Amino acid sequence: MALARGYAATDASKPLQPFTFERREPREDDVVISIKYSGICHSDIHQARNEWGNSKFPMVPGHEIAGIVTAVGSKVSKFKVGDRVGVGCFVDSCTTCASRDLDLEQYMPGLVVTYNGVEADGKTPTQGGYSDHIVVKEGYVLSIPENLPFEATAPLLCAGITLYSPLRNWGAGPGKKIAVVGMGGLGHMGVKLAHAMGADVTVLSQSLSKQEDGLKLGADHYYATSDAKTFETLAGTFDLILCTVSAEIDWNAYLGLLKVDGTLVLLGIPEKPVPVHAFSLVPSRRSIAGSMIGSIKETQEMLDFCGEHNIVSEIELIRMDQVNEAYERVLKSDVRYRFVIDMATL
Ligand code: NAP
Ligand code: ZN
Repeated sequence: MALARGYAATDASKPLQPFTFERREPREDDVVISIKYSGICHSDIHQARNEWGNSKFPMVPGHEIAGIVTAVGSKVSKFKVGDRVGVGCFVDSCTTCASRDLDLEQYMPGLVVTYNGVEADGKTPTQGGYSDHIVVKEGYVLSIPENLPFEATAPLLCAGITLYSPLRNWGAGPGKKIAVVGMGGLGHMGVKLAHAMGADVTVLSQSLSKQEDGLKLGADHYYATSDAKTFETLAGTFDLILCTVSAEIDWNAYLGLLKVDGTLVLLGIPEKPVPVHAFSLVPSRRSIAGSMIGSIKETQEMLDFCGEHNIVSEIELIRMDQVNEAYERVLKSDVRYRFVIDMATL
């Protein structure tokens, strides 16, 4: 066992604080990674504060990890010491299950999440990226393209893949009209990725305060959802709406913005059930769906796509001891557009 240093939530009501814990000795198929940058996802806040009711404490959050390989097990063939690598939302999965062949392991019950989970042994808690190093099976480590600024790649490991996967699944590309609801950490990646795929991109934000940024990042149109006229102007417009908001919104109003056969995909997870009127779906054969991160294969595809198109996250780099303040700012939508912790400051 090696000692690791990090920051942990010790219970749902306390700020994160310095914490020391053990990481396993590398096995033959493990990669040891010195963590350089760790993104702050809104899911970290939900879990550190037990808003999903499944939190295990003490918890070291962080599933947007960018680091450098410092050691590899004897059977590791894809990585070597010095490589730039990433780790996202999961570090193991049910490999015997048929879906592994379909590359949908993120939807299988054997999924081992990067933190707030337990390893395949059923008892060892997993701890995440707000820490100095991590030990991960080779098959769950991603290669980060060399041409991208390293610190801004960390958010690709969750925010990036969470938007890339539904864009690909629902055929984003030239001729498709796509709306992204909420221009936060996930949303701004959606704008960049959908634009790079050639789609016509609209941001639906609560206000116009981030309009200039949205247009610079690749949006073709930008509307405020606080203005009721937006819902009249855009009625029946979109093939696909990707909703990154986890708060309660007027779902029926958003469904009204879809074309015939259009789909509203939930990415944010509201606490309460989503009330949908049959009339919002039936007369236009609309669908409502959900999507969660992406497989390892698709995550690597996304990273390579970002390398080709020079896409990274817009970030605010912070010190480790600013994490609690950063959480408060995320809650106020006061981040442009993702906080990334410089782990050298731990
Ligand atoms: P974020 O940076 O806080 O962005 C969320 C955005 O939603 C905000 O920037 C804001 O955009 C909008 N918003 C916030 N409160 C709102 C309200 N009351 N009404 C309408 N819009 C509101 O969070 P994030 O990291 O992007 O994560 C978003 C959600 O996705 C979280 O719930 C997270 O847990 C979830 N998530 C899901 C997956 C998945 O696999 N499905 C993966 C990662 C995260 P505007 O200011 O532009 O309105
Ligand atoms: Zn996340």
